Amino acid sequence: MAGSDSNTTYSDRPSLEPLDPSDPMAREAQTFPRLSEEMAARVARYGTAEHFAAHQPVFSRGDRSVDFFVVTSGSIEIFDVDEHDLPQVFVVLRERQFAGELDLFNDRQVLVSARAGEPSRLLRVKRADFRRLVSTEADIGEIVMRAFILRRVGLIRHVHGGVVVVGPAHSADTLRLVQFLSRNAYPHRLLDTEHDTEAGGFLDCFSLSAADLPVVIAPGHRVLRNPTLAQMADDLGLTETFDHAKVFDLAVVGAGPAGLAAAVYGASEGLQTIVIESMAPGGQAGTSSKIENYLGFPTGISGQALAGRAQVQAQKFGARLALSRAVVGLDCDELPYALKLDDGERIRARAIVVATGARYRKLDVPDYERFEGAGIYYAATAMEAALCAGSEALVVGGGNSAGQAAVFLAGSVRHVYMLVRGEGLAATMSDYLVQRIERHERISLHPYSEVTALAGDSNLRAVTWTDRRSGVQTTRPASGIFVMIGAEPNTQWAAGCLELDAQGFVCTGAQAGADVDSPYATSRAGVYAVGDVRSGSVKRVASGVGEGSVVVQAIHRYLNPVAA
Ligand SMILES: Cc1cc2nc3c(=O)[nH]c(=O)nc-3n(C[C@H](O)[C@H](O)[C@H](O)COP(=O)(O)OP(=O)(O)OC[C@H]3O[C@@H](n4cnc5c(N)ncnc54)[C@H](O)[C@@H]3O)c2cc1C
Repeated sequence: MAGSDSNTTYSDRPSLEPLDPSDPMAREAQTFPRLSEEMAARVARYGTAEHFAAHQPVFSRGDRSVDFFVVTSGSIEIFDVDEHDLPQVFVVLRERQFAGELDLFNDRQVLVSARAGEPSRLLRVKRADFRRLVSTEADIGEIVMRAFILRRVGLIRHVHGGVVVVGPAHSADTLRLVQFLSRNAYPHRLLDTEHDTEAGGFLDCFSLSAADLPVVIAPGHRVLRNPTLAQMADDLGLTETFDHAKVFDLAVVGAGPAGLAAAVYGASEGLQTIVIESMAPGGQAGTSSKIENYLGFPTGISGQALAGRAQVQAQKFGARLALSRAVVGLDCDELPYALKLDDGERIRARAIVVATGARYRKLDVPDYERFEGAGIYYAATAMEAALCAGSEALVVGGGNSAGQAAVFLAGSVRHVYMLVRGEGLAATMSDYLVQRIERHERISLHPYSEVTALAGDSNLRAVTWTDRRSGVQTTRPASGIFVMIGAEPNTQWAAGCLELDAQGFVCTGAQAGADVDSPYATSRAGVYAVGDVRSGSVKRVASGVGEGSVVVQAIHRYLNPVAA
């Protein structure tokens, strides 16, 4: 086994390799650290000792609310089951090493199973005590948090505890499922029925036909046929369970940068906080391949990495996350307010932060809907880039997100055609990006141009655009169009309760009425709006994070006027 810790072992089963043989040993030691004796003694104060017989289960895949376990003597074997339902051990933890990963910070179903490798003595730290441990013993908390993040990365890379999505890679439904799993950091593997030679046997084995695709093969050989995101999330235990009768102090609608920041600050300052998110943490930023202007990340950070960290941070402080659930209405006639969800449930809260951001604008071209997700994309992450690799692609739009997408895609596609309606990029894009685009030999800029025709079969195969000045039409064999022409606010669900501006963004501060004490207060007392959804806001990650952080002060004043 690669790594500095000779007591941490992976199975020598050939198909299961160490998490990453190329990683430096330091990373291995950080993924499966051994606490010092002094640290182990401190952890012992939070838990109780238990004896486990050889192969006695410690926890099983699918369990929720699993406790934190540290090995005092003996070992814990972490395993997944193979296609024959046989356990395949891929990590053995020994003295002063601990089990667990990110699901210890939430109530989702755990992805893998654990058993005692031999007669063992384990320290069990109950979840409430575990939270106390990581916040009180900061040095241990840091080691645990880093290990948990690295373990999730390993699970994703090796699809331990994951699912298999079977379907044509280019179909919009396959993409929808894969995007959801990727953006929620759920380990998965795609079996592309158009190209993967394994796929036929797989379909026969489950008696599936092409008409059933895509399907998700979940643990226990359960087959989910073209599930909705909510069905899949529920089946995989990604949705947290919580008491719907509970009244939260704060409900945050939307888990983009602004909503996650509100959740981190709200939960860390003692507010019982819940976040409701229809898709995945990160919002628009989660779809950005690289954010280069966020303070503190000189080499840039992918939106998904930023969002993943923020999510864990919010959950570490006790925020709850209701994923794959959309808010469809706000009942503002009674207090506490009630948010209506698309599954018919309601969530009640004394204060609400609206952080639902915006959704992408579309092009007005025949057959547009047909190719959405099958050649028309709104984000340029590694996944979309892989679908267009080696062919040509168009980026439509002249803002920074379009510029980033063009530069990123140019690394893997044959050529990027950048279409803008105006004369150029200078007025709409940061100068550093304009220069990169101008210098890049595989990017060409086409001013005064718009897409006028699309062609293809199940996927986009060719695109025609027209130069509005000359009327000249150009057709190229492109397999992807990246549409980045701005966005509209996600506020339909709040109409009737909150004052909106002419474009539908939420009015706040002075714009919302004379009686408000915060620039983020809406026309309803106790309801605030932050980030892109707020009328007049600066549409940036940093400003959304800033607004989400400071709004919590106003919420404290509202919930607790005497103390204020
Ligand atoms: C491709 C791309 C690249 C970008 N790059 C940069 C960059 O480099 N630097 C920068 O500063 N900015 C960048 N931006 C802009 C930045 O991402 C946004 O300004 C920022 O994400 C806004 O954050 P937000 O939390 O206000 O809203 P959003 O990010 O839009 O998040 C809103 C969230 O609310 C959820 N939601 C919506 N409606 C509902 C509902 N009814 N119920 C439940 N949930 C709902 C959505 O699913 C979403 O997750 C980029 C944007 C894109 C699209």
